[in-house]
Amino acid sequence: MNFYTDNKDLKFQLSHPLMRKIVELKEKGFADKGKYDYAPANVEDALDNYDKVLEIVGEICGNTLAANAESVDHEGPQVIDGRVQYAGGTQENHDTLTQAGLYGMSLPRQYGGLNFSMVPYVMAAELVSRADAGFGNIWGLQDCAETIHEFASEEIKNEFLPRIHKGETCSMDLTEPDAGSDLQRVMLKAAWDEKSQRWLLNGVKRFITNGDADIKLVLARSEEGTTDGRGLSYFVYDKKDGGVRVRRIENKLGIKGSPTCELVFTNAPSKLVGERRLGLIRYVMSLMNGARLGVGAQSVGICEMAYREALKYAGERAQFGKTIINFPAVYEMLTVMNAKLQGARALLYETSRFVDVYKAYNVVAEDRKLTPEERTEQKEYQKLADFYTPLLKLMSSEYSNQLAYDAIQIHGGSGFMKDYPIERAYRDARITTIYEGTSQLQVVAAIRGVLTGTALSQMKHYALQEVRAEQKYLAQILAEMTAEYETAVATVQALKEADYIDFNARRLVEMAAHIVIGYLLLLDAQRDDTYSRSAEVYIKRGKAWNAERAAYIRDFKVEDLETYKQLIVDNG
Ligand SMILES: Cc1cc2nc3c(=O)[nH]c(=O)nc-3n(C[C@H](O)[C@H](O)[C@H](O)COP(=O)(O)OP(=O)(O)OC[C@H]3O[C@@H](n4cnc5c(N)ncnc54)[C@H](O)[C@@H]3O)c2cc1C
Repeated sequence: MNFYTDNKDLKFQLSHPLMRKIVELKEKGFADKGKYDYAPANVEDALDNYDKVLEIVGEICGNTLAANAESVDHEGPQVIDGRVQYAGGTQENHDTLTQAGLYGMSLPRQYGGLNFSMVPYVMAAELVSRADAGFGNIWGLQDCAETIHEFASEEIKNEFLPRIHKGETCSMDLTEPDAGSDLQRVMLKAAWDEKSQRWLLNGVKRFITNGDADIKLVLARSEEGTTDGRGLSYFVYDKKDGGVRVRRIENKLGIKGSPTCELVFTNAPSKLVGERRLGLIRYVMSLMNGARLGVGAQSVGICEMAYREALKYAGERAQFGKTIINFPAVYEMLTVMNAKLQGARALLYETSRFVDVYKAYNVVAEDRKLTPEERTEQKEYQKLADFYTPLLKLMSSEYSNQLAYDAIQIHGGSGFMKDYPIERAYRDARITTIYEGTSQLQVVAAIRGVLTGTALSQMKHYALQEVRAEQKYLAQILAEMTAEYETAVATVQALKEADYIDFNARRLVEMAAHIVIGYLLLLDAQRDDTYSRSAEVYIKRGKAWNAERAAYIRDFKVEDLETYKQLIVDNG
């Protein structure tokens, strides 16, 4: 089985017109051609490399990772003498991907990477997560390499990056018992030791995925006496240097193959990444954005798996003398699941393309000054990526839960049993709306794009694209939804008070998301008619979803908030 070749949506996304520009920027005039025999000579060559490598990833996912997923879910990892031991299947997955040379695929070739853009890298994460969402984390934590590459010194890059390609694993150590959503509260201490001329880390981290990794990026308080984010710096830690013990691993609902660790740091030596005090403000924000894209890919992978399992079951199970797929209640559920899956995927790759363009300009800027036009374009894409990333994380993670829920419903009682893989997907999906920032925190990040007009101007940009005559009515619905959205935004903005705006923020962000996704599907349908049905279903549903939110906002009275508060907060 090959999870890449059995899904035509992936090649379709790779063939998006913006990919040519992304490849050209990323390959900087194809300068690596003479230096590495596997470097591409032109755009076609690069796109062909993406295709071939993804075929290998898809093959490993279909035959190894998916086959191991059930045993990994049963066995899980263990802690032995303060060290994590993976489940047998997890270790096999990791070794197979390492031997195929797939880790670090987005790194420059000088560090052993393939210099791939974000789109194929994110696609690999989607494939891995469709096979085993828990393993998706161990694979996805190579994102840490991106942060090291972007912000660390040459010395640190040369020391750590080639090791990631060789299969050394990573973790990102942010959360502490009193610092969850609010990372400004991080207290793990970093102190400069004159004697050893090193930074030493002391304290506790909890809920750290793959906490016994070879290479860790740790957020710590380097500035004594500070209490906010400006006193935090970022450090890279090498397991070989000792000083970190795994106190325990969590016994949890899902993603059982992914060890979630509580860690004790005792004089753990580490190296400063970038500048002091920028740990949270700059570096963690960048790492989190990458990781949110990763959770987006993980969520789409789960959506794909859930949809396929439900479709297969519905086509096989018969009741009342016919297969259940023939009942309107069942095929309606499947159709909406399909539209949400396609919508989440369209948003995933649009976001990845935006990230690709602005990051590729950073790479170009290493060799020469960007022209004023290039700078403007880079800023524009960065602004879009900053809005789309939390939008994607919010929508795709919620959809992965909705699809897993509906897929179990379609399985009836069998879905509740461990006999079918959908039971695992349901448990695995649950974490996606929590880590890398809860859905509530994604709304806090995305509402800025709504209130500053980034969302609206992008909707208007999409509205200018050509649409086939027979689909103009869908563009018309989207235009009406946009007008309704503008009114809702203006109504909420007129409330002025932060609490009133916060109270309605999720409604506005979701309205924006339904319009954006509707446009993306409609534009996909212009390139390939087979997407027309999902576009139609999503847009018509989106119209109804938005009408409900718009009606609530229209009728909202500031006194309503008092009612909510009195009922809950004052009696709590
Ligand atoms: C399985 C798993 C793996 C994890 N892996 C990692 C990892 O590798 N590295 C790492 O550093 N961390 C990791 N985490 C931690 C994870 O990122 C946090 O659990 C998450 O950010 C939420 O923090 P919290 O659990 O302290 O919840 P809290 O911050 O206490 O939130 C509780 C509730 O309050 C809401 N809330 C909080 N603040 C606000 C606000 N301002 N507005 C609206 N609502 C708000 C939240 O949305 C949530 O509903 C992991 C967690 C789990 C469960």
